Amino acid sequence: MGKRKKASSGGTGKKKKERKQRPPRKVWTYYKIEGDRIIRLKKECPNCGAGFFMAQHKDRTTCGHCHYTEFLEVTA
Ligand SMILES: [Zn+2]
Repeated sequence: MGKRKKASSGGTGKKKKERKQRPPRKVWTYYKIEGDRIIRLKKECPNCGAGFFMAQHKDRTTCGHCHYTEFLEVTA
């Protein structure tokens, strides 16, 4: 009688996939409330009008709606 070998299953565990934690889009940070006044922190698109905010890049602002791009002038 031979010994029955145990079939080892899952000895080496699978690696857990690490999920990158992305911060949620903070839409409310577009506005700043001071007292009873609402101050818009983001630039709005001159083409699309109010409510369409420009995405800020390090050297330009872009509208995600009409792709209007405004380059920032760097003053030394
Ligand atoms: Zn626009």
